[in-house]
Amino acid sequence: MTDPVPTTCMRCAVGCGLIQRGVDIGYGIDTVRGNANDPVNRGMACSRGISETADPDGEWLTRPMVRRDGELTKTTWDTALFEAQRGLGEAMDRNPDAVAILGSGQQTNEAAYALGKLARGGIGTRYYDANTTLCMASAVTAYYDAFGSDAPPPTYEDISKAETHVVWGANPAVAHPVMCRWITQSAEDGTLIVVDPVRTKTARAADHHVAVDPGGDLDLARAVLARVVETGGVDEAFVDAATTGFDDLELPDSEAAADRAGVPLSTVDRLVETLADDTLIYWGMGVNQSVQGTDTAGALIDLCLATGNLGPGTGPFSLTGQANSMGTRVCSSKGTWPGHHDFDDPEEREVVADAWGVPVERLPDDTGPGPVGIVDAVREGSVEAVYTVATNPVAGMPDATDVADALEDAFLVVQDAFRTETVEHADVVLPAATWGESNGTAINMERTVSRIRPASDLPRGVRTDLNIIQTLGNVLVNDLFDPTAAPAAVFDEFAALTAGTDADCSGISHERLDEELAVRWPASDAETSAGYRYYEGEEPRSSESREEPRSSEGRTASGDGGDAVAPDDWSFPTPSGRARFSDGTGRPLPEPTDEEYPLLLTTAREADGYNTGVRSRESPDDPGTLVARVHPDTLDDHREVIEPNEADDLLVRVASRRGEVIARVTADDAIPSDVVWLPIHHPATNDLTHPATDPRSDEPNLKQCAVRLARPESDTVTPAFERERPPQHP
Ligand code: SF4
Repeated sequence: MTDPVPTTCMRCAVGCGLIQRGVDIGYGIDTVRGNANDPVNRGMACSRGISETADPDGEWLTRPMVRRDGELTKTTWDTALFEAQRGLGEAMDRNPDAVAILGSGQQTNEAAYALGKLARGGIGTRYYDANTTLCMASAVTAYYDAFGSDAPPPTYEDISKAETHVVWGANPAVAHPVMCRWITQSAEDGTLIVVDPVRTKTARAADHHVAVDPGGDLDLARAVLARVVETGGVDEAFVDAATTGFDDLELPDSEAAADRAGVPLSTVDRLVETLADDTLIYWGMGVNQSVQGTDTAGALIDLCLATGNLGPGTGPFSLTGQANSMGTRVCSSKGTWPGHHDFDDPEEREVVADAWGVPVERLPDDTGPGPVGIVDAVREGSVEAVYTVATNPVAGMPDATDVADALEDAFLVVQDAFRTETVEHADVVLPAATWGESNGTAINMERTVSRIRPASDLPRGVRTDLNIIQTLGNVLVNDLFDPTAAPAAVFDEFAALTAGTDADCSGISHERLDEELAVRWPASDAETSAGYRYYEGEEPRSSESREEPRSSEGRTASGDGGDAVAPDDWSFPTPSGRARFSDGTGRPLPEPTDEEYPLLLTTAREADGYNTGVRSRESPDDPGTLVARVHPDTLDDHREVIEPNEADDLLVRVASRRGEVIARVTADDAIPSDVVWLPIHHPATNDLTHPATDPRSDEPNLKQCAVRLARPESDTVTPAFERERPPQHP
């Protein structure tokens, strides 16, 4: 048995510490368990995290490949890197913006930092993004709007302190099992409310399920805030001391807004009542993946601000999916420079360019149009070459057939550990190491940085993400990287660049993490590990301390009795030093139902579904059965188009204006009537979804589009990959 190696689970952004052991002979992981010494999870872990770390499904990539005569053909690293450099380099020489790079929340910080440095500083393209924009961008934009910084204020320590837990548009029971356990344990002495159109596993464990209409989240959040104001529930002392924008709020009539959300006013009032207790509001993709994602996330933050639910045991807490989504944002120069240096500030751009040794004029002027906009640029032809790292846009992006068609016409370099749908369109494939083979760090959803360590030697033919990026980067851009720089040195370079920023990691190093296992940013020195963000008061705030200043006069009353909150208790990195209320008014669903497409498709995570299922299915050829869930009444209404196959499964064709799939259909009264539920991580689902995006965050509206059910005209469900393979790139 090999020695135990502490590491961090890279399955989801809870970031549990694990102990792994490598196999005695050959390559791979033998055993994995939770690390009892890790301060994040104290030994807890879920079965999915364990199994996907130890023995993931999926078809491993073991050799570099290049396309020859239309077929992907195994080759040497030298040949693959030469081909990648040729295709990317020729496009770059014509125009830096002719190259697009798509990264991932599955990379280590070190690889994400290096990829951002290559994209922004080496090539200088504006067309650089990551799949994290597909899930977290709306929350991030709302955090910047409210707090001037991309950081959820609470930490995991606040979960046990909260009295009320409101989970909005998220299903942590299947997405974040360990964290969900903490939430439900805390709620045993309090209240758990779930807001979701679907009666999810988390909703079934809740004290109350609020079945909001699909797309009704913003209306409901605004209805709740309007009722908070009408019933005198505003924490005026906090609002006066620590916020701006409250008096500018344009709130709807609460009853009308509740009606639009499909929720009775009595239920709205129940939410208002619970906000009087110490409340954490968690939210996920049900909020973010919408054309009004930023507005809705902002409205949830507003609920916290208006009711004084900011401070230990309270606050807004976005639930991050991918393990290193936050690391990608902090490290990778995607929406800000490393450490959240302002993308537009001339002095901060100089700092970044100096650190990288590149001319400041090479840095792109803007952060780009997001992944959907990048695909638009590929389709229009201005982007000629695309480099993807640990992401699968052909399955993971909306209107996926269109994404596949666009990428067929580009020169495509795909770097991944597994064969994915995107690999099938590649001109060059670079096989990368995965979790148990890589060395680096990750940042979980509560800002904790921890180590990723290898417990297995690298298989022959495979290289780490960081090594590939450094090697390819140096042949594209002379001397961009120190070719001998180990992950620890790359982290040090990143951390030094963050000194003095809101996301200061300069007090963190691999060495410190080896000792302490987990350190939260901001950490400006080797002793600091941050706690609750923005709160600098001495005493934890509590519902008792918030009761006194409440007024029955409504929001226009002054904050008498407001000595429970001192302005010095709070420090927000906004120009005024105060948190800001939002002013988003939302927008209609991009594709409402109509006579031709009378049902609404919603997508969500099923248990074990992550990252388009690349680690939980055998290969792109075998994605597992696509199962559509519909309410029994909806099933009855469509009996005439549902047909059994030989196995007596009920099959139906689900069609949108962009594509169609054949699914096995099941009756499930957890789904609202006239709604079709499909798993978002099945690679066929996104053939149907709509590519509209939130105009502020660029996050796609993956949660709602119009569909219809029709006869299957086939007796098999949609296979994993039925698109034609692309022709050879010229
Ligand atoms: S909860 Fe998330 S981080 Fe923890 S073991 Fe499970 S998958 Fe891994």
